[in-house]
Amino acid sequence: MKIKECTKCKLHKTRTNVVVGGGNVKSDIMFIGEAPGKNEDLQSKPFVGKSGLVLNEMLDNIGLKRSNVYITNIVKCRPPDNRDPTGLEKIKCSMWLKKQIKIIKPKIIVTLGKHSYSSMYIIFDNIKKMKFYVGKMKTNNLYYVKNGKNNFYIYKAIHPAATLYNHSLIEILYTQFEEIKIFLQAQNEKK
Ligand code: URA
Repeated sequence: MKIKECTKCKLHKTRTNVVVGGGNVKSDIMFIGEAPGKNEDLQSKPFVGKSGLVLNEMLDNIGLKRSNVYITNIVKCRPPDNRDPTGLEKIKCSMWLKKQIKIIKPKIIVTLGKHSYSSMYIIFDNIKKMKFYVGKMKTNNLYYVKNGKNNFYIYKAIHPAATLYNHSLIEILYTQFEEIKIFLQAQNEKK
């Protein structure tokens, strides 16, 4: 079955388009959101609505462009009225995400929001919390996944949309993206 023809869950009945993902398939960094909203469903692109603007701003702030990274969602079809994706929808759709991770082989996956982070545990059973220091400060958002030959890190970030409802969260998101930048720099220095 091709992803654009997927009928594994009932979201296919109400979608306009499948939103597979976008960006650079050769990137070391992959961002995974929750599910497409109205604009994403119409344009067949991830993060093109208001939360996309926040994500663009965060990327820009750490010197990345959307064309440098790969962006997708846990669930590839829009849940009606932007409701949360159900457990079953996340499980059924996880096979597509698993395939994407296999193709892209990211060094780090940034999960955006709790649905994205928790879905990593549907796909991978070997997730370990890591110690990660920014200067002398230990941060709590880094994990490591053993995945055969393609091990990778997970950075657990908040969802950009959360900052639209609670503006004080924007500072946290900026800090988290700074940590991602520092982590990427440290990885590049190791090369
Ligand atoms: N747009 C997306 O593509 N994903 C989200 O999680 C939110 C908005």
